[in-house]
Amino acid sequence: MSDKNDIQYKERSWLQNNVKTIYMAALLITLPSWGWMSWITLTQTSEQQLQQQVYSDIQLFADSLNSELEKYRFVPKMLMLDAGLVERTTRATSDHSGILANPYLQHIRQATNADEIFIVDPQGTTIASTKTSNIGIGYRHSPFFIAAKAGNSGGFFTLGLHAGIRGYYFSEPLFDPTTDEVAGVIVVKVNMARLERGWLNKATPMLITDNYGVIIASSTPSWLFTSLSPLSAENKQQIRHSRKYPMVSFPLLQTTTHKQIEGGQVVSLPRAGFKKVLEVNKFMPNLGWTIYGHGNLAAAKQSVQQGVAISSLLWVLLLSLAYVVTQRRLQFLETLHRREVNQARLQQAKDQLETRVAERTHELQESNLELKQTQQELIHSAKLATLGQLATSVTHEINQPLTAILTSADNAEQWLGRGQVDKARDKLAQIKTLAQKMGLITSHLKTFGRKTDDKNDWICPQVALDNAFALLQPRINQEQVETVIEDLSSFQVLANDVRLEQVFINLISNALDAMQLSQYRRLTVYCQTNATAVEIHFSDTGSGIDNDHLLQLFDPFFSTKDVGVGLGLGLTISYSIIKTMGGDLSARNSATGAVFSIRLRAASKSDRNL
Ligand code: ADP
Repeated sequence: MSDKNDIQYKERSWLQNNVKTIYMAALLITLPSWGWMSWITLTQTSEQQLQQQVYSDIQLFADSLNSELEKYRFVPKMLMLDAGLVERTTRATSDHSGILANPYLQHIRQATNADEIFIVDPQGTTIASTKTSNIGIGYRHSPFFIAAKAGNSGGFFTLGLHAGIRGYYFSEPLFDPTTDEVAGVIVVKVNMARLERGWLNKATPMLITDNYGVIIASSTPSWLFTSLSPLSAENKQQIRHSRKYPMVSFPLLQTTTHKQIEGGQVVSLPRAGFKKVLEVNKFMPNLGWTIYGHGNLAAAKQSVQQGVAISSLLWVLLLSLAYVVTQRRLQFLETLHRREVNQARLQQAKDQLETRVAERTHELQESNLELKQTQQELIHSAKLATLGQLATSVTHEINQPLTAILTSADNAEQWLGRGQVDKARDKLAQIKTLAQKMGLITSHLKTFGRKTDDKNDWICPQVALDNAFALLQPRINQEQVETVIEDLSSFQVLANDVRLEQVFINLISNALDAMQLSQYRRLTVYCQTNATAVEIHFSDTGSGIDNDHLLQLFDPFFSTKDVGVGLGLGLTISYSIIKTMGGDLSARNSATGAVFSIRLRAASKSDRNL
């Protein structure tokens, strides 16, 4: 099974890798176009708004100018019906009787606020006027005179030749009631300056041109009597003939047209601050005049710039929002994907782990079984080794009764030969006792030598102890070792009897080994007990255990004995035997030598009843 994760993260998509670049590119590409479109749209809108505003301004002004002029138009119409005035005029023009009664005209002028009211005779000479200094002035070529002379109403704008005042002249014929001839012409002059007063102070320039394109009214006084376009020779001739103005040449107002828009045009005017203004005009058909109004594009441009800035900012925000939302979404999807992959990997790892644990457990179980078998074999081998060690002393122990049996048999034979049956019977009884003794020895060996499993039972440790001592007794006797053994027959411990005997033999043999060089040899077996355990101690008067060796005693192959004498497996095997019984084996030094302690589970009352 491979450790490498089989489940891989998906490659990041093209969009995920390039979302930032796309955003930057979109921003760089679209922002100028967006700004430019906003600029065009907002400029158009603001120009149209300005155009409408200027147009409504000049419309308003045209209306007020018209109504103002209309007011004066009625004055001569009214006066032409005045019979007294007609009669006086007729008389004055027919008999050249002189000046008409000016006080009457003066009265009318004051009442109407007109600039001047005067009467011209049929030859075109002023015969009466509210301005007496003007009497005698000729208007023979003036269109307003010519029109009235012809019996029509006249209206005419002119720059006064004498006073230099721009005025609008309304004229009506005065008919001689007897002949029905035009006996004179009544003229009412209105000063243009009066009409302009209302809009002169307008922040943006306003001007009126006449039918020749000559500026006759302007909010910028210096532009008066300049022209928007050069006058043709014919126009000049007409002006000269009508004496409309005292001059026929007019300086050109330096304007530049930048572009045409619907209902107006963008122009430059020769006045500081009006390099680019929106010009809107309106033709007044009844007067033949054109009114020009101007709107300040600079202010509009400023609001357009603000609008473009806001609109561009909004566009940037919109794109940024789209970018952030897209990026978040992509990140979320990636996180989701990674979480899913991680979960799948975890699951895979878990599955792999479970499989491995199952495999290992199986292997472990098998090796445990093997180990157990090996351990069993080892314990048995160790027992056989112990048996081998015991063989010498056991042989010696058996040899003695065997020799005695042979001798007794010889003796019994001799006594029978002599016919002394009783004595022969005694010898046979001795042989029987000796044979029984031998049987006891071999039965101990037989018990110890039998193969056993590792099953534990509640047993009395005394049996195993007696057996162990019985097997080692020849050696104990030989080495003159004193034994002090406490009676353990009242205890029940959880153990395997043959195995426990093996441990006892090992501990006793070690104690005998350790005491070999001791002057005084005593082996004491005593026990301590509590409710749950019994501790059996083997205390000797031997060499004791070197402090450095205390921790190694139970390690396999640890031995201080000569090669061939000790293998160093006795305590290791004893320790593992006691552990399988749920007990413990430990070692320490005492004042006299070493003490080895076996702790085993003690049987409670209920255990004993089992
Ligand atoms: P072996 O007897 O083959 O050396 P053991 O495992 O039985 O192996 O003992 C290990 C060692 O423990 C011995 O070599 C000895 O040094 C020490 N030992 C065991 N019992 C005693 C004892 N009663 N007194 C002193 N040392 C002991």
